[in-house]
Amino acid sequence: MELNDSVETLSGVGPKRLDGLHHLGIFTIEDLLSHFPLRYSDLATKLPSQVGSGEKVTFKGIVSSEPVLARYGYRKTRINFRLLIEHENVAVTFFNQPWVQDKIHLGEEVAVYGTYEQRRQTLMGIRILAKDSMDELQATYPASKEIPQKTLKVLIEQALGKYKTLLVDLIPESIRIRYQLLSRVEMMFGMHVPKDGIQAQAARRTASFEEFFLFQMRIQLLKMTDQANHGRSIKFDNNKLKKFIQTLPFELTNAQKKVVNEIVADLRRPKHMNRLLQGDVGSGKTVVAALAMYAAVSAGMQAALMAPTEILAQQHAKTLSQFFDVKDVRIELLTGAMKAGPRRQILTDLENGEIDILIGTHALIQTDIAFHNLGLAVIDEQHRFGVKQRAKLREIGMNPDILAMTATPIPRTLAITAYGEMDVSVIDQLPAGRRPIKTEWLRNNEFDNAIKFIQKQLESGAQAYVVTPLIEESETLDVQNAHAVYEDLMQYFAPKYQVGLLHGRLSNQEKDDVMAAFKQNEFQVLVATTVIEVGVDVPNSSVMLILDADRFGLAQLHQLRGRVGRGQRQSYTFLISDPKTQFGIERMEAMVQTTNGFVLAQKDLELRGAGDVLGNRQSGLPEFKVGDPVNDLIMMETAQQEAIEMVNTLNWADQSENLQLSQFLSETMERYRNFD
Ligand code: ADP
Ligand code: MG
Repeated sequence: MELNDSVETLSGVGPKRLDGLHHLGIFTIEDLLSHFPLRYSDLATKLPSQVGSGEKVTFKGIVSSEPVLARYGYRKTRINFRLLIEHENVAVTFFNQPWVQDKIHLGEEVAVYGTYEQRRQTLMGIRILAKDSMDELQATYPASKEIPQKTLKVLIEQALGKYKTLLVDLIPESIRIRYQLLSRVEMMFGMHVPKDGIQAQAARRTASFEEFFLFQMRIQLLKMTDQANHGRSIKFDNNKLKKFIQTLPFELTNAQKKVVNEIVADLRRPKHMNRLLQGDVGSGKTVVAALAMYAAVSAGMQAALMAPTEILAQQHAKTLSQFFDVKDVRIELLTGAMKAGPRRQILTDLENGEIDILIGTHALIQTDIAFHNLGLAVIDEQHRFGVKQRAKLREIGMNPDILAMTATPIPRTLAITAYGEMDVSVIDQLPAGRRPIKTEWLRNNEFDNAIKFIQKQLESGAQAYVVTPLIEESETLDVQNAHAVYEDLMQYFAPKYQVGLLHGRLSNQEKDDVMAAFKQNEFQVLVATTVIEVGVDVPNSSVMLILDADRFGLAQLHQLRGRVGRGQRQSYTFLISDPKTQFGIERMEAMVQTTNGFVLAQKDLELRGAGDVLGNRQSGLPEFKVGDPVNDLIMMETAQQEAIEMVNTLNWADQSENLQLSQFLSETMERYRNFD
């Protein structure tokens, strides 16, 4: 007998029920036992202050007035009495249940189930609960038509009885004691057949912690294995690095200094670096990447920078060439559009170690590319790349240290779950002297005012973006919509100012051409769908106008807004929308109130749930059964701390411990098989 046994082994489970259980995702006894109740029925007693008007509830209290039975009409009755619950009095009335009177005695405790009317503090009684079921909680499970509540209950109770001796603890005892958690057996009973609300709560707390802890153990073990297996110390030249910093055209912000220190310390350590660099749009990540790459080069190694679009790669190549205005660093740009000849030359030089820094797009992860000795790979706007592409970079470069950069602020919750295997550095400060972007929320009928405002900006020599929304159901409609806006604005601004158009139907090359032309000020207004989101720098643009802004998520709006405010000009963002929902209104208000990406990301997380913030596909956020990493963040952090501690103190030389560990690992892997 083991917890891995099929649920078939339970009596009462034939082929039909087995099928039904499979549909609920229940295959083994362990699955069945971890099929936890969604909630418990309202037989749980409450206080009047916890109950809304018209809700069904059970009150438990002392009968504080002699029940009075009144007869009226034709065989109609009414019983009235008062119930003292803690220090609140509730008037209880039962209609047409004269027998209830026998169960109610002055000064005795009783539990009454009924409908509460808050304003008049009255309870319309439905029934009196039997003494022994007074505290009983009825579990409500996620059930189905084939496997209804009752069946689940019976099967779970059967499994609990048969398998309870096999429920060994997964959380080490010392940790259980420290956080006053239940044993696994107590937890299981507490979840499925709690004696009271307190026990149910304690069980849920334990189950959440167990889930978080196993999850964190797995992440920490993976991280440790990775660091141990692919480690390498990059012994950079600190003097050179310092000198290089002095040649920069600006003083680094304190936040930049801090993250540079974190990164180079990691490079020097003989372990594999897997670091996420977060910094709001405009916080200056590029120069940090430049310093890290320079450190690797000063240690005689190569570095690579991968960007999501050609224009961004070009922009980086140009910026970095300016930074590295020194002869001893050779930077090359590798693009998809490159001709065969020059491309071959670059590949040869790369392989011979004559190129120090290679910048490019996905072109960097083509199979025919071989580095001489790649020490560091930087991935810009990492959320634009899939998991596979990131893995590929490691393969091609023989596991270089990785620095992944993102302008999407990642709240703690996601940082320690979806990105748990990475170390995180944060640039939490913008360079001094930036003028904060002014944001205004306008109604649709104020569109003309916004356009007039844009015209004034154009007259002063600035450029502007106009963003049209992405309506998910139809890309064709989006493009049509963008086209229509483009035509309108072209007419409006002609002949003095030119308008350009950018949308998802264009090829990458065409998109890059449009962006490049805008950057050259060949046209002054760019109408675009969200394809401009990614970090292209046009410092001369001062206005971002977003149409139907309530169709965008907060993170996206923030990214879009970050396209302006990159130069000397005072910049403006106009959100045009008539939101129809409270969420829409809240999003607009949040955008106007703050320009802090972290605050907005947290708000976004609260409004939309974790999966959406990064997009479900890429978030990698596993589905937790019991725990809620957003609301139980502190517990998740605690579980992480304990897991780190435990992994660090493991005695790797001890064979028996290793054996236990590998069992543990495969167990946790199994549980989170969907995580990768
Ligand atoms: P992002 O983090 O969005 O990629 P960038 O690296 O593109 O930001 O930097 C935005 C702008 O700020 C660039 O023009 C860059 O040269 C400038 N910058 C970066 N760091 C500083 C600093 N410490 N002081 C002044 N300007 C800076
Ligand atoms: Mg950037």
